[in-house]
Amino acid sequence: MTAPTEPGRVCRDCGATSGLVMRPYGPLDPPEYECADGCPPLDLDALDALAAAATDGPWTAHPDGLVWSPLIGDPVSGSVLPEDAALIAAARNALPALVAEVRQHRAAQQPTAPAAEPSDRQLLAAAHRWARTHGWRVTWRGWADGLSDGTVGVGWEHGELRIWRSYTTPGSSDRRWPTWSTDYPVASVRQAVDVLVALDVLPAELSSAYRAAVASR
Ligand SMILES: [Zn+2]
Repeated sequence: MTAPTEPGRVCRDCGATSGLVMRPYGPLDPPEYECADGCPPLDLDALDALAAAATDGPWTAHPDGLVWSPLIGDPVSGSVLPEDAALIAAARNALPALVAEVRQHRAAQQPTAPAAEPSDRQLLAAAHRWARTHGWRVTWRGWADGLSDGTVGVGWEHGELRIWRSYTTPGSSDRRWPTWSTDYPVASVRQAVDVLVALDVLPAELSSAYRAAVASR
């Protein structure tokens, strides 16, 4: 029962512009709409990309209704109403943290690893031990090699190993996570560890090839 896209109509709850139905108990003039099949989950990558592409924060709302970034020059937005300016600035400033928090909640709801056999559990424990003793920390991007500004993040999402690599802006010490990551489909802990060894994230001693070589000695 998905309705076609109709210009100017948006879901009252999430802002979606297609698949809408009129809210059954909403006002008739003007009518309100909502997602016919329930609101979809927020597209966090899209929001991350919006925040990363926009002028750096913090943005501030001025009493004249203009919104300014730290850059001198043009205001990033203008509104007649100071209340609107306050919302635009606050939304920009809160967006990265909101996305991060939703990611954390989603990650917490997911299984932490593929179904593990007893030998896999030992391997997982060995990988965790290695990570902990080499300064890796749990961050909102998964495990990262260092504090939140590490260079590699390893997470688990939608049944895939997700690898983030941060970058440093040329001429600055400001290290940032990009808005993109690379996903590697894996079916087991062993496969995940082998992928991480191949990517030079984990040491070779944890790979199946190394373990097989040691075992056959
Ligand atoms: Zn919606």
